[in-house]
Amino acid sequence: MPLLFGTAEFNEKEHLTIGGCDTAVLAEKYGTPLFVYDVAHIRQRARGFKQTFNSLGVKNKVIYAGKAFCCIAMYKLLEEEGLGCDVVSAGEIYTAIKGGMSPDNIEFHGNNKTKEELVYAVEQGVGTIIIDNFYEIDLLSEILKGKDKKQKVMFRITPGVDAQTHDYILTGQVDSKFGFDVNSGKATEALEKILADEHLILQGAHCHIGSQIFSAEGFLAAVEKMMLILNEWKNQFDYTVNILNMGGGFGVKYTESDDPLEPEVFVKAIVNAVKAQCELLDYSFPEIWIEPGRSIIAEAGTTIYTIGSQKVIPDVRHYISVDGGMGDNIRPALYDAKYDGFLANRISTEKPEEVRIVGKYCESGDVLIKEIDLPPVEAGDLFAITSTGAYGYSMANNYNRNVKPAVVFVENGQDKLVIRRETYEDLIALDCE
Ligand SMILES: *Cc1c(COP(=O)(O)O)cnc(C)c1O
Repeated sequence: MPLLFGTAEFNEKEHLTIGGCDTAVLAEKYGTPLFVYDVAHIRQRARGFKQTFNSLGVKNKVIYAGKAFCCIAMYKLLEEEGLGCDVVSAGEIYTAIKGGMSPDNIEFHGNNKTKEELVYAVEQGVGTIIIDNFYEIDLLSEILKGKDKKQKVMFRITPGVDAQTHDYILTGQVDSKFGFDVNSGKATEALEKILADEHLILQGAHCHIGSQIFSAEGFLAAVEKMMLILNEWKNQFDYTVNILNMGGGFGVKYTESDDPLEPEVFVKAIVNAVKAQCELLDYSFPEIWIEPGRSIIAEAGTTIYTIGSQKVIPDVRHYISVDGGMGDNIRPALYDAKYDGFLANRISTEKPEEVRIVGKYCESGDVLIKEIDLPPVEAGDLFAITSTGAYGYSMANNYNRNVKPAVVFVENGQDKLVIRRETYEDLIALDCE
């Protein structure tokens, strides 16, 4: 059985439909590869986080990490759902504002924000800048002084919790290019420096412990560690945070073997842990912010490809090529990410056999799915890869001068083009003679 998410199902023509739209029709209309986003699914995930906080009566901000996927239409959708957004470049700030995102709901991350980007963020009125390092404290302070402005900031700390694995290692995350390290005392040094700066209005502390996290344990360990540090700072400097930002990284389902928790479960676990620690330490309960990226957008996205050539090496391998690959989804090549896929234009009862799905790019590493059981397929068949909504299009590239695919949003039987497919003219648009 194929792994179907959200509104995805097969219609009477045995075509995959998403949001009530026939993907074979969409493929014909927009060309393949094609990213199809199930808007109802995006809304459901966004609400899963937001409404759980609200129902618990906890002041919160759910901030979508735009690096997972962003475009004007996506920011419009976030505005509708009452989410903020996290950006990591001036380009993302520009897009967010063009998409109608209120600057106050934008938070700016990054370990090497340039002077130009910080000036742009301050001028645009970006709500929160998350300071990552000492260089940035000085740079931002100097910019603000020059403009005689104040800026709301948080600072990112690495609490020394690595939630990448189920049995988290308490020192693992220390070796990171991001944030101020707690164990060596750098975080405390940063706090003193920021508090002493009249241009910086410190709102709270941030941490982000990893990605594709499947259990609540890592977050609980991070909450404990964060609250311990915050409490030390309360005692030492009489400083209490208004906001505790626990970052993103909530896991999603890529293949049958992934077993992620629902957004509601993560939110409840975090809130309960913060409450317990606050009671234990007699700390006043802060506003809680989170930054889900993948968990809002990954499962909502499906890529539709057209199958082309096949190569059978007897007793070795059966390769099936599709008309996209590492240009529209570099994750399998980049970090061996696993995906699931299936025939999207018919239901076959023929005997499946193990095949490898590869792209059309000139790299042997251009593999989309290493091993998958598929019935016999032929050129022209449509192949769907599910859960491609995060870090797919946003990492897309023009390798081999292939054009980037189109992106459509589908909802209630309506399709809406939100990013058009590139043209050959686009490919030479930046070339100078
Ligand atoms: C990447 C990132 C996120 C989002 O991570 P997901 O795994 O997509 O949820 C959130 N916060 C920060 C600081 C990040 O770098």
